Order: sequence, then C-alpha cells, then structure tokens
Amino acid sequence: MKRVEEMGLWERLYFPEIIRGLMVTGYRFWRNLTIHTLHLFGLAKDQEAAITVQYPDERIPYPETFRGCHRLTLKQDGLVQCTACFLCATACPAECIYIDAGYEIDTLRCIYCGFCVEACPCDAIRMDTGVHPANRGFTRQDFVETKEVLMERSRELEQKGKEGLYEEHVRRYQHV
Ligand code: SF4
Ligand code: SF4
Repeated sequence: MKRVEEMGLWERLYFPEIIRGLMVTGYRFWRNLTIHTLHLFGLAKDQEAAITVQYPDERIPYPETFRGCHRLTLKQDGLVQCTACFLCATACPAECIYIDAGYEIDTLRCIYCGFCVEACPCDAIRMDTGVHPANRGFTRQDFVETKEVLMERSRELEQKGKEGLYEEHVRRYQHV
C-alpha cells in the first residue's frame, strides 16, 4: 500500500482535522456511555462497550503466548546458552540487539516482535517472562538491558516463577 506523505489542503487547514478527531472521540464516548447504561437495565446485552482496566491495581490474565521482557536462558552450570552467532541480531527488524560488547537490547527500539526468539538456533533467548517492558526511566541507558540483566531474569524466573516476577514488577509501579 502506498503511504501518503504529503498533506492535502484539508489537513493543512488544521482545524477540520481537530474537529474530525473530536468527532471520533465523541462518538466513542457516547457510544460506550449509552451501551454501559443500557447494560445496567439488562438491555443491549449483545453489544460490547469498551472497558477500562485500572492497571496495575486490576489485571486481566495474559495468554501463554504473551511476549514479555526478554531473558537469556542458562545452562545447568549457570552459564549463558548464547553462542554469539548473531542470528537474532540479523533477524531483528529494529536493529536493537548489540552483541559486539557482550549482549544488549535497546528496549526503546525493540518492537517486541519475537523474531529474535524465532531466529535463535539454541533456545538461548526467550520472551516468556510474562513481564511488561519498563516504561519509565531517566536516561536512554535505563532502557538498555545488558547480558547480566537478561541472565538475572532467567534466575529470577526460576526462583520466583512467572507470577512472582510479575507481582514484583507491578509493586514497583504501585509505589512510584
Ligand atoms: S523482539 Fe523483535 S525488535 Fe525486539 S529484540 Fe527481538 S527481534 Fe528485535
Ligand atoms: S541467535 Fe541465540 S545464540 Fe545466536 S546470538 Fe542470538 S541469542 Fe545468542
């Protein structure tokens, strides 16, 4: 599909686009409000309206296939499985895996597509932690996950389990 880069006269006038945006928002707002009100009276049960989950106080379970934070898997002796073959870095569409100086993922560039996991021939990288990526930090470096961080995540997953790891993640956000 050809992407339209140029703005037409209508877009350049600016205000019509603001009004269009407000109309979309307004439509959604009134639709949701109406359907939720009808549901209170047992009506329009076949119509779905948007709901807001008060995360992190409320949570809905993730499917097993949810792609969470990366981790580097470990061998029985605790060493990393990764053989630095560069296949994941080659497969990464965001070019956010750096292997030259250790192993790092720039999670600000990562799009969580999972291609690196698919590309790895020795199951050395997984995204099965069930944990969201961090969304707060003060410098770019706060979002770069090093080899040590990725290995530690595997150890923590082993000790605390997926649910324990996620509980800790949520507690960090609740106490910010
Ligand atoms: S999930 Fe996708 S974007 Fe992120 S590191 Fe892996 S391949 Fe790259
Ligand atoms: S594909 Fe697997 S073994 Fe190769 S560098 Fe990436 S994580 Fe390491």
